[in-house]
Amino acid sequence: MLIFTKIADLKAFLSEIKAKNQTVGFVPTMGALHNGHISLISISKSACNITVCSIFVNPTQFNDKADLKRYPRMPEKDAAFLENAGCDILFLPSVEEIYPTGPVIETYDFGYLNSVLEGKYRPGHFNGVAQVVKRLFEIVEPDKAFFGSKDYQQVMIIKALIKQMQSLIEIVNCPILREADGLAMSSRNALLNEEERHIAALVPKIMREAKHIALSNGIKRAKDFVAAEILKVPVMKLEYFEICTADLKEIEKIDPSIKAVALIAVFVGKIRLIDNLELN
Ligand code: AMP
Repeated sequence: MLIFTKIADLKAFLSEIKAKNQTVGFVPTMGALHNGHISLISISKSACNITVCSIFVNPTQFNDKADLKRYPRMPEKDAAFLENAGCDILFLPSVEEIYPTGPVIETYDFGYLNSVLEGKYRPGHFNGVAQVVKRLFEIVEPDKAFFGSKDYQQVMIIKALIKQMQSLIEIVNCPILREADGLAMSSRNALLNEEERHIAALVPKIMREAKHIALSNGIKRAKDFVAAEILKVPVMKLEYFEICTADLKEIEKIDPSIKAVALIAVFVGKIRLIDNLELN
């Protein structure tokens, strides 16, 4: 695996690859890699000739500065993990390399997507995500880019960004990888202490039960159930639990002919976890 820290070096190398008509797959990450990230690398490897992974903890997408500060960073361990997974190129830029004039916030208009769910509770987050992904897309110019549906709303934002950029990059939505107890893999899981990690496993369990209740007794009962279950655990705090159409419009009734998805954001101690589950 080749490691690049400078944009110019990466671009020069990739232009040689593209001149040979090789396809490039791209997996942007913030590091502290786990098997969920590695699953994206594997999907990219099976779809493209060359796979590029970037690790960049993007300061402009953190609305909570304490979250940015505590975000886990382990580049050496990540590089070894990627090498083992058969990743071809790791792009590991500094903040100065990505934002030479400083991390100034840019504003994007994603309509209602900016103001619901993650957009509502993490103001400015998707602007930062769009800013860095656009920058990375312009550097790597991949044929395909791979994103996890754990960040369900993020995938929709990226697809909207691609439209705004009039880009031909294909956005590939990849399934959520989970731990044996059902907890969605996440870099933030490493920040949970033993007790919190144990409690976090309740999230997917509550989601599965809520799905069952929503389908048999309706959405209101499912929402009441989730709120009551979370309230029982003092270390947990519910930020939202919503049931929406596939394009994230909130619904009040399940219509079997329309795809629905349940989405949750919940604090376990100081750590904010998100998850989602398709209902039909
Ligand atoms: P992050 O490093 O958290 O920014 O995530 C980088 C990419 O990995 C994003 O596209 C995430 O959606 C994806 N990802 C994170 N966790 C998982 C998971 N458990 N399963 C599949 N993809 C994931």
